[in-house]
Amino acid sequence: MSMIDPFGREITYLRVSVTDRCDFRCTYCMAEDMTFLPRRDLLTLEELDRLCSVFVGKGVRKLRLTGGEPLVRKNVMHLVRELSRHLRTGALDELTLTTNGSQLARFAGELADAGVRRINVSLDTLDPVKFRAVTRWGDLDKVLAGIDAAQAAGLEIKINAVALKDFNDREIPALMRWAHGRGMDLTVIETMPMGEIDIDRTDQYLPLSALRRSLEAEFTLTDIPYRTGGPARYAEVAETGGRLGFITPLTHNFCESCNRVRITCTGTLYMCLGQEDAADLRAPLRASEGNELLSRAIDAAIARKPKGHDFVIDRRSRRPAVGRHMSVTGG
Ligand code: SAM
Ligand code: SF4
Repeated sequence: MSMIDPFGREITYLRVSVTDRCDFRCTYCMAEDMTFLPRRDLLTLEELDRLCSVFVGKGVRKLRLTGGEPLVRKNVMHLVRELSRHLRTGALDELTLTTNGSQLARFAGELADAGVRRINVSLDTLDPVKFRAVTRWGDLDKVLAGIDAAQAAGLEIKINAVALKDFNDREIPALMRWAHGRGMDLTVIETMPMGEIDIDRTDQYLPLSALRRSLEAEFTLTDIPYRTGGPARYAEVAETGGRLGFITPLTHNFCESCNRVRITCTGTLYMCLGQEDAADLRAPLRASEGNELLSRAIDAAIARKPKGHDFVIDRRSRRPAVGRHMSVTGG
C-alpha cells in the first residue's frame, strides 16, 4: 500500500517536526522574539508515534525527527525508542534526526543505542563569536562537545551549513577541511525565504553556484552520483578526500525527485516545503482509535502534493514565499 502522488513520485520519506521550540534563534530561521505554539496544541509523544507508524505502514522507509530543536522536546528519547521498533522489524530503513547539537553530549549514547546510525548537525561557523552572532543564543563549545560525543558513540555525522553572504562564505573552505578531517560530510544550503525574520534575506542570500566557483579556485570538485535520499547533490573533493553536498532550492530546483512530506508537532501535514497547502491530521487522529480515518486523510493529501515550490529571493518580492518559519516544518 504505497503512497504515490499525482506526478508518480513515491513518498518514502517523512520528516517530523516534534517541537517548534528551540534553544537557538538563528538569524535566518527565527525572529528573536518568536511566539511559539501553546503546549496544549502539540501532539503527545504517543500521538506522534501513532502518526509516524501509520506512515510507516503506508510505505515510509525513512523517518527524520527535526524541529525547532528536536532534542529540547521533553522525553523525546521515549519517542525515538518507540519508533526504533520499526527498524527492528525491517519496516523502516532509517531513523534519524537533524539537530543543532546543543544537547547531543547528553543524548548521543541513547540515540546510538536506539538504532540511530547517522545524524545531521547544523553548524554554520567554527568561530565562537560568529557562532553566537548567527545563533543569537548558542554556545559553540557545547555543540563541538556534542559532535565529539556523537562520534564517540559511533554515530555518523553530516554537517549542514547555511551559506550566508559576507558571513561564512569565506570560511566554507575551513569548515570543509575540518569536517572532512573528522570523517564527516559537509552540505551547504541556500537560504530559503520562509517566515518573517528580523533581517533582509536578500542581504544573506548567496547562490551556491557562486560559492562553488570560488571553491573551485582552490579545490578539485568532481560530481559523484552519491545520494542520501535527499535533495543534496554531491561532489568529491580531491584535496580532502571528503564529500561536499549542495542543496540549491533556488538556483537548481530539485522538486522532480521529491519523495518526502512533512508533519508538524500539531499534526499538520505539508506536502511541499515551499507551498502553503496543508492537511490537518490531528482531527482524524483524535476522532477514532482506529487508523482508517487517518489513513484516508493522508491519501487525500498526497493526491494534492504539488509539482514543486516557487521560491525566489529578490528585492521586488520582500515577503517570504511561505509565511511559516522553517522551524514549523523542520526544513
Ligand atoms: N534545530 C535543528 C537544526 O538547526 O538542525 C533542526 C531544525 S532546523 C529548522 C533544520 C535546518 O534548516 C538547519 O540546518 C537550518 O540551518 C536550516 N534552516 C533554517 N532556516 C532556514 C532557511 N530560511 N533557509 C535555509 N535553511 C534553513
Ligand atoms: Fe533553532 Fe535550528 Fe532554527 Fe537554528 S535553524 S533557530 S537551531 S530550529
